[in-house]
Amino acid sequence: MRLSRYFLPVLKETPKEAEIISHRLMLRAGMISQQAAGMYAWLPLGYKVLRKIQQIIEEEQNRAGAIELLMPTLQSADLWRESGRYEDYGKEMLRMQDRHERDMLYGPTNEEMITAIFRSSVRSYKDLPLNLYHIQWKFRDEIRPRFGTMRSREFLMKDAYSFDLSKEEAVKSYNRMFVAYLRTYWRMGLTAIPMRAETGPIGGDLSHEFIVLADTGESGVFCHADLLDTAIPSADVDFDGDLSSIVSDWTSLYAATEDMHDETEFDSKVPQDKRIAARGIEVGQVFYFGTKYSEPMGARVTGPDGKDTAVHMGSYGIGLTRIVPAIIEASHDDDGIVWPVSVAPFEVVLINLKSGDAQCDAANEKLYGQLHAAGLDALYDDRETGAGQKFATADLIGIPFQLIVGPRGLAAGEVEIKHRKTGERETIGVEDAVARLKALIEPERRDAA
Ligand code: ATP
Ligand code: MG
Repeated sequence: MRLSRYFLPVLKETPKEAEIISHRLMLRAGMISQQAAGMYAWLPLGYKVLRKIQQIIEEEQNRAGAIELLMPTLQSADLWRESGRYEDYGKEMLRMQDRHERDMLYGPTNEEMITAIFRSSVRSYKDLPLNLYHIQWKFRDEIRPRFGTMRSREFLMKDAYSFDLSKEEAVKSYNRMFVAYLRTYWRMGLTAIPMRAETGPIGGDLSHEFIVLADTGESGVFCHADLLDTAIPSADVDFDGDLSSIVSDWTSLYAATEDMHDETEFDSKVPQDKRIAARGIEVGQVFYFGTKYSEPMGARVTGPDGKDTAVHMGSYGIGLTRIVPAIIEASHDDDGIVWPVSVAPFEVVLINLKSGDAQCDAANEKLYGQLHAAGLDALYDDRETGAGQKFATADLIGIPFQLIVGPRGLAAGEVEIKHRKTGERETIGVEDAVARLKALIEPERRDAA
């Protein structure tokens, strides 16, 4: 992408309304634009990050055996009257009527709808286990939307729903999602710790929140320090096998959100020098809730004994539009964002130090073509502006590698590579630069394979 033809409305000033660093940087880097309270347009740079996050989530959900579909944003109130949640949900639910005066709502979550889809077509235990997910916009009329897309009213969520014949089988489905989540956050460069959590309005008796530690987080959390370097399951983990030992590696060490925190247990189970009492950002939550919806809504299957049973369900959410600021909270410096390669909007930015100079332009064009041919996702800063502004933009928008090309270096056959994260600079022969970048970038992609 040529920056001169792109849409990147960066801001020089720090926006006053933004209280936390990720919100400030997302506005300054031209990633989002507010359209109403708690509602944001995703501008091209931000949208590219969001799509990369979506891709990782889909790959890991599919690997774990979940199947993608797409449900509508608007739902009928009658569906929610069946589960009893239409009245319970309160003011967070955005309610409306269509032209026939039928009560509708903008879905805050999809347990009811997926249960209705399930009951209309699944009859036998032979079709289980089943896990269906979608990635769709949700609306919750938050009393205090804030921190940009961290807590917005309209937000993008991945929500998966599992169906099993028994609690025992449902726990296996829960474990599959638990392991998929560990891999998903790791691939995004995030350290997210599963902590036992309260089930809230979703209901149920088993739940974990996946939490990224950050001072600006809204939840108080308590955990064992060793969880910060517990091993992440590899890509060849067998989702058809027994995952309980992986899950217990994580759940045997103390980790709880403030609602579920037990100070006595924390004191007795965690040595003094291993205690973390901190703040965190909830980037996902998994629930097992048994027959809470299947019972009242009549989602039943015939078991091997010929008897009808209500299915055991779980639901599994990830907030995509919250993950973007969570990554920024975890990875930035005074100059701007520092994207992990796997979610970076571009992998490398080519900085032409003298746009307009025929020879310099020709060398840059050639490198730009080579970057593309090497399969690297490159942004080419071809604007006719000063080098200082180009460096500032590149640092602000956080592209992991900068390839800096100017007349002086070219005269010596050299260009420079700057690592955004460490600030390290390498001078390298112009012919070797692209191969070097490829070697730096490919291992950092954390690809599906
Ligand atoms: P919170 O406690 O932060 O309000 P929640 O527990 O109500 O969130 P869930 O129902 O667990 O949210 O939704 C699944 C995920 O969706 C959350 O883990 C979070 O990542 C994301 N999410 C929930 N509410 C919002 C919001 N208002 N803005 C952005 N993301 C959200
Ligand atoms: Mg939650």
